[in-house]
Amino acid sequence: MKQEQTDVLILGSGPAGYTAAIYTARAGLKPMMYQGGQPGGQLTITTEVENYPGYPDGITGPEMMENFRKQAERFGLDNRYGLATKVDFSTPGAHKVMIDDAIEITAKTVIIATGASAKWLGLESEQRLNGYGVSACAVCDGFFFRGQEVAIVGAGDTACEEAHYLSKLCKKVYMLVRRDEFRASQIMQERVKNTPNIEILFNTETLEVLGEEGVSGIRIKNTKSSEEQTIAVSGFFVAIGHQPNTQIFADYIDLDEAGYIQTIKGSSYTNIEGVFACGDAQDKIYRQAITAAGSGCMAALDAERYLASKGH
Ligand code: NDP
Repeated sequence: MKQEQTDVLILGSGPAGYTAAIYTARAGLKPMMYQGGQPGGQLTITTEVENYPGYPDGITGPEMMENFRKQAERFGLDNRYGLATKVDFSTPGAHKVMIDDAIEITAKTVIIATGASAKWLGLESEQRLNGYGVSACAVCDGFFFRGQEVAIVGAGDTACEEAHYLSKLCKKVYMLVRRDEFRASQIMQERVKNTPNIEILFNTETLEVLGEEGVSGIRIKNTKSSEEQTIAVSGFFVAIGHQPNTQIFADYIDLDEAGYIQTIKGSSYTNIEGVFACGDAQDKIYRQAITAAGSGCMAALDAERYLASKGH
């Protein structure tokens, strides 16, 4: 097996990972990054990004991540393809991370920026129209559907929050709930129930997202009556939860019940010395590119200070 060493190992290549890379590279720490299973992260599956400050005319998600990559590489990031498959965080100062079950990296510090993956319904049409009217982020994409009719699937706090957000931009929001009740907290449920342009359809399953170049409607089924119907919408939002990509760290790193890394408040410190976390892997509330980037900066500064405290 191939073995290598580094002072700073960054896992993940979304806004959090690349920001950590830019800061640690500029600090002369020669970071090494493994990009993970989705190089560029979740932004590579969005179209326009209009809420990231500094881009007055907006930018596409893939272009933005290309810029992050170039900026980090300009300062000497050792950027590699590969997925972390196993870790051993039992020896501070010599943490071990296995890449693709083939390369073992020994790192003085590890910055976890492995992100989260949106859960999807698993329909072929949903996948085909992803980024073309199908979205898992109302805050990112709702603006493109202002004045239009949209649908959102889910019944948790996120779905309620996003339905409410969409109701302020869109003419009408259909909320598709698979059971006859919500999972969301009472206050969030009340908020959607009291919003006149949100129509809640209980016991409803999505069979298909319709459209060729973009979304034109959805085919849904009432699971009690088995009745099917087609509704015309131009946007289809999926808000059925996220899965943080943290499973491989579970033996060492403290995770919450949903799998998010628990960092020490106001920092990127985890429970393991020399291991820092940033981005969506440790954030189930905000989940924005800008907050991920901010936390990547925090992780870089924390890692730099940790190394300095060890006489680096
Ligand atoms: P949740 O896991 O809480 O909810 C997921 C929802 O999606 C459930 O209602 C579930 O239905 C539904 N769902 C899952 N799979 C499917 C499917 N295949 N088809 C249709 N519906 C499906 O995730 P959230 O993202 O909403 O929330 C995650 C955590 O973050 C929660 O702890 C939440 O409280 C918290 N949060 C808090 C916020 C706040 O306080 N402002 C804002 C956002 C999140 P079912 O109920 O039938 O299982």
